[in-house]
Amino acid sequence: VNVDAKLSTDKFFVDEGNAHIVLKEIVTEEDRREFRKLVKACPANLYKEDAEGNLQFDCAGCLECGTCRVLCGSTILKKWEFPQGTFGVEFRFG
Ligand code: SF4
Repeated sequence: VNVDAKLSTDKFFVDEGNAHIVLKEIVTEEDRREFRKLVKACPANLYKEDAEGNLQFDCAGCLECGTCRVLCGSTILKKWEFPQGTFGVEFRFG
């Protein structure tokens, strides 16, 4: 079964004014190394690095799995919370 196809059936409600994950500014090489861990580890591919080395993160589509918090919560993550109230991911199975 294709994971991307499965993920595309989940719905996301994004709280635009209140991102539930916020990163610190990525400044040093050490920060970039931390970020790259998440490029590999985030199951929703929300941490991206393009060919020019630009780093991008968008918390829309987050599965709230906590992987980035476990890996980088003490380094490049400034905030990690579950989305409030009715926001966030709604999983659909089957
Ligand atoms: Fe990605 Fe999981 Fe972190 Fe969400 S909680 S940004 S899905 S690693």
